[in-house]
Amino acid sequence: MNAPSRKPPSGKPVVRFAPSPNGLLHLGHARSALLNWQFAQAHAGTFLLRIEDIDRERCRPEFEEAIFEDLEWLGLSWPSPVRRQSDRFDAYRTALSELEKLGLVYPAFLSRAEIKAKVRENEESGEAWPRDPDGAPLYPGTERELSADQRAARIGSGAPFAWRLDMKRALEGLKTPLVWQEANEKEGDGEPYPAGPAEWGDVILARRDTPASYHLSVVLDDHDQGITDVIRGQDLFEATAIHRLLQELLGLDQPVYRHHRLVVDESGRKLSKSEVDTALAALRHAGHTAYDITRMAGIDADLRPFASPA
Ligand code: GLU
Repeated sequence: MNAPSRKPPSGKPVVRFAPSPNGLLHLGHARSALLNWQFAQAHAGTFLLRIEDIDRERCRPEFEEAIFEDLEWLGLSWPSPVRRQSDRFDAYRTALSELEKLGLVYPAFLSRAEIKAKVRENEESGEAWPRDPDGAPLYPGTERELSADQRAARIGSGAPFAWRLDMKRALEGLKTPLVWQEANEKEGDGEPYPAGPAEWGDVILARRDTPASYHLSVVLDDHDQGITDVIRGQDLFEATAIHRLLQELLGLDQPVYRHHRLVVDESGRKLSKSEVDTALAALRHAGHTAYDITRMAGIDADLRPFASPA
């Protein structure tokens, strides 16, 4: 396994803003993009834009165009060409087959409804079913022990399936306790934080027709693009445990993580792409300036790229 490195030889950070073009960017995205951009500026580093468009059904070109337009309007710039995850499917397939060779993934055939039914059945008999940090029931793992022939037969029958990580087996191979380096919104490289990927159970790493889930693609691209500091919302804090595990299994570099506070609505809930009035485009059309947006996103607007509002 490669020794994980945290800083490029130049010592200059490389950061990325990595939105999915499945809706319009809102104030929460502006906060993330601006924090990344300002971090790069403050440390003479590089700010990259990455389009996370592995979900071919939900991602649309018009949302991608809107991302470019909104970020340019905010005053941000980034090097070309911009990476699109949809161009990286071969690399994701290679990593998945590496995990398959290690015996760490298995094809899982239960549909969402079947998982629910199984959980209900157990809970009705008085047994609480474990849930992941997002509240979803853990996968029952019924197919973990199928033989190679049984797997091939089920795949051959055309049944839809997802590739899931055999979490227990993956953890058995670890030699040292898993931690990640968490700096939150502070300067410096932060503190080691204990990662508990087992809480997520057998997570999905790919589907029959999509060679990577978010978890797999994000660690592969962060490594491949030499990302030194991952600056993203607190809502992805717990998922970092899965990312660290995948980095260990695949010999990938680990960045420093800087999870930041989220922008919340009046009732304290995180913003969603379906709430149109906090979309950057809507705020812009309502007459707000980039400077206003920056302040609304809880960012120090007197740092570049914003001229102070004389
Ligand atoms: N694509 C993810 C999103 O739009 C962000 C991934 C990340 O920053 O790790 O929520």
